[in-house]
Amino acid sequence: MLRDLVRAFVDKELIPLENAFGPRREIPPDVMRGLQAKTKEMGLWMLDVPEEYGGASLDLLSRCLIDEQVGRTALFHWHSHPLFGPALRPVLRYCNEEQKERFLWPVLRGEIRICFAQTEPDAGSDPASIRTRAVRDGEDFVINGAKRFITAAGESDYAQLMAATDPEKGSKGGITVFMVDLQSPGVTVTESWPNITGESLWEIALDNVRVPNANIIGELGQGFELGQKFLTEARIKSHGARSIGAAQRALDLMIEYSQQRVTFGQPLSDRQAIQFMIADSAMEIRMARLLTYECAWRSDRGEDIRDLSYMVKIQGTELVTRVADRAIQVHGGMGVSTELPLEHFYREARAVRINEGATEVLRWRLARNLMRSPRRS
Ligand SMILES: Cc1cc2nc3c(=O)[nH]c(=O)nc-3n(C[C@H](O)[C@H](O)[C@H](O)COP(=O)(O)OP(=O)(O)OC[C@H]3O[C@@H](n4cnc5c(N)ncnc54)[C@H](O)[C@@H]3O)c2cc1C
Repeated sequence: MLRDLVRAFVDKELIPLENAFGPRREIPPDVMRGLQAKTKEMGLWMLDVPEEYGGASLDLLSRCLIDEQVGRTALFHWHSHPLFGPALRPVLRYCNEEQKERFLWPVLRGEIRICFAQTEPDAGSDPASIRTRAVRDGEDFVINGAKRFITAAGESDYAQLMAATDPEKGSKGGITVFMVDLQSPGVTVTESWPNITGESLWEIALDNVRVPNANIIGELGQGFELGQKFLTEARIKSHGARSIGAAQRALDLMIEYSQQRVTFGQPLSDRQAIQFMIADSAMEIRMARLLTYECAWRSDRGEDIRDLSYMVKIQGTELVTRVADRAIQVHGGMGVSTELPLEHFYREARAVRINEGATEVLRWRLARNLMRSPRRS
């Protein structure tokens, strides 16, 4: 029921808007507010937020079903759409009572925005080696360093920022999450180079920035663990589920177009070369979908799903790259036009194989864990 409800909403309200706002598909704020009013009315508001905070309290599997449907439209960038209101990112779950008042509630009321700042110029895939340093000074920490490629930093009030509090310890207790006010003296936020997705990414420079001890989220030294929690969930929902949705739409368009388009006197769909692309895409989507659902279901049962989440992210993002590529090929010149969503899926798919765990690194971690594990099935 949930899936059908969202599918109908996407078909009726979102897909028709895909070409309404130019090739960059920037949705005007009033249109977005209108869409949000509709999702709220449907009871799809603050999906991961517990009911006591006014949210829908949905489990990960349900959120995957929803994100899969949203993934079918080219209206949004992969991991940032405000359609269902503010999300309770895993790191925010670790706010203490006092921090809830300053960060959690304002986020849920839509008053402040918080970005996630881990990557640095010299530390991307290996966050344990971050160099941004936080040194205690009385009631404060003083932070120096630089962050790179941060989504939404330019529109955010705070950054959940990873800094080394004990560099010797690295990932084993040496990194802490600080809530850094981006208006603080010593913070400079500048836009990074434009990238393939069209979405802005940002650099954050920190020069002797004072952050009160009270802005540590979780425990001192717990930052690596909290960062991984955030990324694990994102890999399943944002990357796995959305990739499947985009791939499914690309396949649907591919089938439809191949049946209409006649070349050399016959529809494309009569050609075996095209049929193989359709068959392979359908099989691959089904496999990735089952894997994603299994992973979300196991996560909801409280199982350790780190390895499965690596598989989901690799499978999903490589799948959508392949299927979008095939669908573009079948559409010929139309395939690369902004009139269709395919070029958007293709560009986004290229980027999501890098962020939140690049493919090679996830494969390597998966293999390493498998070799260590006594149980492999
Ligand atoms: C669209 C987008 C949004 C982003 N948003 C954010 C954000 O909001 N917050 C944030 O903190 N970061 C963000 N990032 C940064 C992203 O997380 C990093 O780009 C990513 O972790 C890779 O780091 P890197 O770019 O330094 O590449 P590197 O770590 O230098 O890796 C380069 C290449 O080498 C490969 N590689 C690295 N190590 C190994 C190894 N051991 N074996 C084999 N291959 C290896 C990688 O797979 C990759 O292909 C974003 C990036 C993009 C593209």
